Amino acid sequence: MECDLKALRMSPAFRSLLLPICQRPTSSVQLHNKLSLSSRSLLLSVKLKPLSCAALEAFDLNPISDLALSNVPNSETQLHEVRVNNGSSTNEEMVGSNVKTRPRVFNSKKRLIRYSGMLRTCVLQGSLNEGKAIHGQVIKNGIDPDLHLWVSLVNVYAKCGDCGYARKVLDEMPEQDVVSWTTLIQGFVVNGFGVDAVKLFCEMKKDGTRANEFALATGLKACSLCFDLGFGKQLHAEAVKLGFFSDVFVGSALVGLYAKCGEMELADTVLFCMPEQNVVSWNALLNGYAQEGDGKQVLKLFCRMTESEMRLSKFTLSTVLKGCANSENLRGGQFLHSLAIKSGCKIDEFLGCSLVDMYSKCGMAIDAVKVFRRIKNPDVVAWSAIITCLDQQGQCQEVAELFREMISTGISPNQFSLSSIISAATDLKDLHFGESVHAFAWKYGCESDISVSNALITMYMKIGRVLDGAQVFEAMTDRDLISWNSLLSGMHNHEICDLGPRIFRQMLVEGFKPNMYSFISVLRSCSSLLDVGLGKQVHAHIVKTSLDDNDFVGTALIDMYAKIRFLEDAVIAFNKLSNRDLFIWTVIITGYAQTDQAEKAVACFSQMQQEGVKPNEFALAGCLSACSRIAMLENGRQLHSMAIKSGHLGDLFVSSALVDMYAKCGCIGDAEDIFGGLDSCDTVSWNIMICGYSQYGRGEKAIEAFSTMLNEGTIPDEVTFIGILSACSHLGLVEEGKKHFDSLSKVFRITPTIEHYACMVDILVRAGKFNEAESFIETMKLTLYPIIWETVLGACKMYGNVEFGETAAKKLFELKPEMDSTYILLSNIFAVKGRWDDVSKVRKLMSSQGVKKKPGCSWVEVDGQVNTFVSQDGSHPRIRDIHLKLEELGEKLNSVGYIPETEDVLHNITEREKNEHLQYHSERLALAFSLISTNPPKTIRIFKNLRICGDCHEVMKLISDVTNREIVVRDIKRFHHFKSGTCSCNDFW
Ligand SMILES: [Zn+2]
Ligand SMILES: [Zn+2]
Repeated sequence: MECDLKALRMSPAFRSLLLPICQRPTSSVQLHNKLSLSSRSLLLSVKLKPLSCAALEAFDLNPISDLALSNVPNSETQLHEVRVNNGSSTNEEMVGSNVKTRPRVFNSKKRLIRYSGMLRTCVLQGSLNEGKAIHGQVIKNGIDPDLHLWVSLVNVYAKCGDCGYARKVLDEMPEQDVVSWTTLIQGFVVNGFGVDAVKLFCEMKKDGTRANEFALATGLKACSLCFDLGFGKQLHAEAVKLGFFSDVFVGSALVGLYAKCGEMELADTVLFCMPEQNVVSWNALLNGYAQEGDGKQVLKLFCRMTESEMRLSKFTLSTVLKGCANSENLRGGQFLHSLAIKSGCKIDEFLGCSLVDMYSKCGMAIDAVKVFRRIKNPDVVAWSAIITCLDQQGQCQEVAELFREMISTGISPNQFSLSSIISAATDLKDLHFGESVHAFAWKYGCESDISVSNALITMYMKIGRVLDGAQVFEAMTDRDLISWNSLLSGMHNHEICDLGPRIFRQMLVEGFKPNMYSFISVLRSCSSLLDVGLGKQVHAHIVKTSLDDNDFVGTALIDMYAKIRFLEDAVIAFNKLSNRDLFIWTVIITGYAQTDQAEKAVACFSQMQQEGVKPNEFALAGCLSACSRIAMLENGRQLHSMAIKSGHLGDLFVSSALVDMYAKCGCIGDAEDIFGGLDSCDTVSWNIMICGYSQYGRGEKAIEAFSTMLNEGTIPDEVTFIGILSACSHLGLVEEGKKHFDSLSKVFRITPTIEHYACMVDILVRAGKFNEAESFIETMKLTLYPIIWETVLGACKMYGNVEFGETAAKKLFELKPEMDSTYILLSNIFAVKGRWDDVSKVRKLMSSQGVKKKPGCSWVEVDGQVNTFVSQDGSHPRIRDIHLKLEELGEKLNSVGYIPETEDVLHNITEREKNEHLQYHSERLALAFSLISTNPPKTIRIFKNLRICGDCHEVMKLISDVTNREIVVRDIKRFHHFKSGTCSCNDFW
């Protein structure tokens, strides 16, 4: 992965991605051809996934035009017949300038009719080359076409896809009439050039040719092709004026136009004003409603249509099925299916596709497969329909199998089946399979298809092959918003997230208007970048595009702000959200938990429940972690009972969080109980327990748990070893510690971190092995890490090792001069030895460096409320009672022979003042408050931001004895459990 990413940084190809991308012009002819080729695929289910955009386009392009054309009793043929009957073929002008020199040949009428007939066959077979050959023959033989042959020539070019040449032939005609114009316009319509067809229609009128009913119908079809409702309405007026309104072709074309443009009321009116409705107009109207997703209306109209004894055609059935599919009306669809069987309608691949689509959209994949299996010779459209259906139902394995089956039957995949199979490969997360599908797309020439490329980009991004995805993007000649969004979607990994905003900018530069998906992706990049500046820019953009009230975008915004730890901004966006789901509540709760705002996290949690959102395991665990962070045991216990009630206790995620919460709150027994009840333990839960034991001074338990963990086959990770090494250090087990430290890298192949080295140093120095520690530090090249010297300095204070202590302190003054504890510990070491000169030197150094002692801060939870105390602070509302209690306790302690250890106080003041100073250490204020506000036998739990000082430790021990209360103090390093005058740390911390 890393290599890939490096390659990615270097890749010139990738860099060019960020340069303005020249859009190669794609000929519109190509595009239109592609679309008209795919118009059958309108029966494919339209996926609401981005990769199906081509399918949507094809769907939007009036699908009825094809059906209508194939259903109308061939209007051209009729036209020609009219022309032949009129028999006006005596014009004897020459074909063109090149044949002007040829001798005049008088043609028999029969010969001309034969040529026209041959040309008609060419049209039916769609063979342009044969048509051209016949045209050549006509010229070569010096035949002077009559009007009918002229029209046949225009027709062959127009219908076989060469509209430009058809136009040339028309221009060469000695005299154009409405039939030849109409033939040409029809050619443009058939080839999908609606705008050009409309232009031609206007040209015809300018030319003085009056439109007849066929010309008008063709003009209307052109309008519906390019959604030109305005011009269509003009034609409507003209039809009324010319008295063609009652013509069935004009009427059908009008219904088609209005239905296509979504003017359903107008379409409705026209249909029922027609003196006689035909199947084409009915189908046009049905199709309009089906596209609007108005399944009810489709069925209603269908019933009305069947009442009128109209013959039931498969086109009608397929249109009504589409209506059922779009409105997910399964019962309607099933009714039509049975109607089709009853009426003896053959379920061929055409009707089969519609049925597959209907069952697929109604979520009945099994029925869809059944219908598909009954289709005798499924074509690529039918295959695509079933493959898309199964892909949408998430049955990716089945999709892969069907795809193989399709290929083995010799059918080449099209862009729709390929897009679906790529999407299945994406869900399977199978890179190898995805790559082979990519090769298929390339083999079948579909790689350049925009929907296939988009699907490929998404696939590579989801599988994590960002470079491959970017390469597909670059190779595209034509990109749409989906292409950009697919590319953006992969840009949130930490190594490449900086590309996200750059791609976003480039996208704007190229004139694309970002949508919700673009914003969601770029916000993810911003949160990976932890760049709030960029995030706010994107936020401003979202407001500009009025997407700020979109819930999905809002959720992404909140997530981004929460991840960057800008909780206030997250909450502002959160309050704007209209629809707060569980996910977003969890984001906020976890956000509070991670920024140590546990009270707000808990408040948020209960508000969520009040608003009727049921918590899931993630919300619960998030809230529990908030409780463990600031040790809100009461709230934690409430969450525990909630987890029992909601049945989430069996969830490893929740139970691990509970174990963690109890362990962090110093209730090692409760943690043990829950841990013991777990069905299965993973590394995380074992780690919580091992580290919990270790911090709690139960080293033996930690070592025991570690060996059980290994026996059960759970693989330890780096955290496990921190727990086990600190346990060894605490127990003074030097050899065992060394053994574990060795196995870390040798057995478990874990690279030791600086924390592991610090643990090892701790093991050595705590055992008083300073020489060994010194050489360990040297050989392991650890001299530049402050944590190592902090560890050494702490032990030196304990052992009174002045020499090594000075070395450690000097190192720390260099590495971390701002750290207050170094000065305090060093001066303590000197004070113990009575070296007061050195004590005052250290003190001067400290003040000259501008270092101030970090104020001690302790907190206790009483009745679910957290009470915080800062050293020497008098702001608590019950401070008078607290002081009175401290005085009372002081007297009690004096009576049992307590002498304050004032060496920890680093102030140039008298012994009495020092004594008073000690009395107001934050943990003592917290203790006094707990004693006056709680009753025995409740354990008092105090949490402190620094290490507990030696004097307070002594006082806690004595008080636990004289008051007969258990006191737990969690300081920055570990737990001290004071009971009957002793501490669980054995005075070793
Ligand atoms: Zn203290
Ligand atoms: Zn202790």
